[in-house]
Amino acid sequence: MTLGVPRPDWPGRLLHWQRDHGRQGLPWQGIRDPYRVWLSEVMLQQTQVSTVLGYYARFLERFPDVRALAAAPADDVFGLWSGLGYYSRARHLHACAQRVVTDHGGEFPRTSTGLQALPGIGRSTAAAIAAFCFDERVPILDGNVKRVLARHIGFADDLARPAHERMLWQHAESRLPGQRRDMPRYTQALMDLGATLCLPRAPRCGDCPVAADCTARLEGRPTAYPVKTRTLRRQQRSDTLLWLEHQDRVFLVPRPPRGVWAGLWSLPEVGDATAAQALSAAWPGTGEWLPAVVHVLTHRDWTLQALRWRLPTRGSAATLSDVAQRWPEGRWLAADKALALGLPAPMRRWLTSAYSPSESESVP
Ligand code: SF4
Repeated sequence: MTLGVPRPDWPGRLLHWQRDHGRQGLPWQGIRDPYRVWLSEVMLQQTQVSTVLGYYARFLERFPDVRALAAAPADDVFGLWSGLGYYSRARHLHACAQRVVTDHGGEFPRTSTGLQALPGIGRSTAAAIAAFCFDERVPILDGNVKRVLARHIGFADDLARPAHERMLWQHAESRLPGQRRDMPRYTQALMDLGATLCLPRAPRCGDCPVAADCTARLEGRPTAYPVKTRTLRRQQRSDTLLWLEHQDRVFLVPRPPRGVWAGLWSLPEVGDATAAQALSAAWPGTGEWLPAVVHVLTHRDWTLQALRWRLPTRGSAATLSDVAQRWPEGRWLAADKALALGLPAPMRRWLTSAYSPSESESVP
């Protein structure tokens, strides 16, 4: 594989382009506070800027610094994260804040190596924080930047293999600007290029500041890179949930600490529709089936259906006792309390449309 060598003015072109055409004025730009930069980096890992803006503002209002976040109950953190998805990020966020307080006196480490030792901070995130806040000369290599570099170099080896990814890291390192003071803008430039021009399916090479020596463009096939052969086989799964109501309260159970939606609160799962019907047949009250929804996860299409069952105000004591025995960690919650917890997106939509219909339009 012959790899393209960039012109020596690679960093200079990116710096100029970012200043004139890059994204400006985002609330986490131009600041040196590692808490705020870290929060934005974690939120942006799997989520669009437009979605992150509101969550970022609400998080900072509630948890203005790392000590406030560390001291918060996990349910509050998950509640504010609800709707952003990829909940392991929220779990790591909380654990990381607690580690910063207990092990570092409330101050983030000032090097990418130190930052990487914290929960949920990978090499690229650590580098971004260190570059933005401390001018450290370290490369980032998130998904967008991998695409930019692989195209520019013409990197045809499979990036699913760790050895090849390590090679790309070396390329990223070799292209850094010489001056530490340029690191924040250079890092932002790479992020902006990947997010706004070097798009996965339709790269805008005509506007690109590094098009002149971009191998993929010169070959006339920019979307041929990056090469990644490992394909995920999608799984199908179905589950049935019980939406139990009694006296304006809803019954929720905590999800297991590992797996999908770990740490969130959920309607109890009961296997399949037959199991749900068998359970409810012995209970007083009335029920209705909600239309099934398909929730798309990274590796899985998850079909969820729910039986909404309303227990009568009187005469439900035996059923309440049965429910408590089946799900001893469950809780009966008023609607506003339930909606303040971290809930999986489909359940938040159901509960919001039932208990806060005016807000259901804005549920992501
Ligand atoms: S020229 Fe096109 S493919 Fe190459 S880096 Fe720029 S946008 Fe990406």
